[in-house]
Amino acid sequence: MSEHDPDDAGPPHRPQNRQTSASKLRRGGRHCPVCLEPLPKNAGRTRRVRYCPACGAHPSQGKHCLRCGAEAVWESRQRAACRSCALHGSKREVIAPPGTP
Ligand SMILES: [Zn+2]
Ligand SMILES: [Zn+2]
Repeated sequence: MSEHDPDDAGPPHRPQNRQTSASKLRRGGRHCPVCLEPLPKNAGRTRRVRYCPACGAHPSQGKHCLRCGAEAVWESRQRAACRSCALHGSKREVIAPPGTP
């Protein structure tokens, strides 16, 4: 354990751009990954609801993200988003077709 780390002289941490913070919201679990509206809590107040009242998005069981492969896809009527890597767009762009490993 050293008190003076020579590698500590890097550039200061800067706030990331807007796109990155939106991606953070998508993965944070407090916002709808599809439309970024804050999710209300459920009746037990232990977890957020698994449904977005704003856009109708909900987690898709058994569907996988086209980019990261996680089963963490939310989909609304028109759009979809991945809670794992924050990929979002039309369903075709986010949901891996059936049979994809
Ligand atoms: Zn939504
Ligand atoms: Zn993903």
